[in-house]
This record gives sequence, C-alpha cells and structure tokens, in this order.
Amino acid sequence: MNTNIPSLFPTTGDEPCAGQDVFFPDDYQNAVEVGKAKALCASCPALVTCRAWALAHPTLTTHGIWGGLTPQQRRTHRRLFPDRNDAYAARAA
Ligand code: SF4
Repeated sequence: MNTNIPSLFPTTGDEPCAGQDVFFPDDYQNAVEVGKAKALCASCPALVTCRAWALAHPTLTTHGIWGGLTPQQRRTHRRLFPDRNDAYAARAA
C-alpha cells in the first residue's frame, strides 16, 4: 500500500492506490511492478493533482510512484522543466 499517501497527500480514500502495495517497489527497474502502479495511476481521477503535488514536494516524495511517475522520472522532469516548479506548487496547493 502506498502508505505515505494518506498522511501526505489530500485524498478521498477512493484513489486506486488505496490498499495496494505496488507503489514502493524494491526495484524501480522491475517493469511488472512499476507497470502495475502506473496502470492504477492512469485510471486515477487525482492523477494530475497527485503528480503536481509530488513534483512540488521532492523532499517528501523521494521514493514511490506518484502520479504515474517514478522517482527518476520526477527528477528528470524537474531538471528539464525547472520553470514549471512554481506552477506545480500552485496547482498542488
Ligand atoms: S495518481 Fe497514483 S499515486 Fe496518485 S493518488 Fe492516484 S493512484 Fe495514488
């Protein structure tokens, strides 16, 4: 289960990650595990908000799949689009 989500991200409790244990894989190169989490995120109505929140809070989301992105993908996104960080923070507020 993505146990960090209830305490860190404002959820409704109906997100597809509730009760799932695939959001913190031991190995982010494990395509099966990561693919399961990403598929759940793809069906989540909170995807955009969750992704923005995770991108705006890098120190709180160093691990885990958030908004369909792995930690490496979030780091890459922040590095490639640093000018968007304020927009993420505003959207996630
Ligand atoms: S986008 Fe993914 S991690 Fe975020 S709330 Fe939805 S299912 Fe959970």
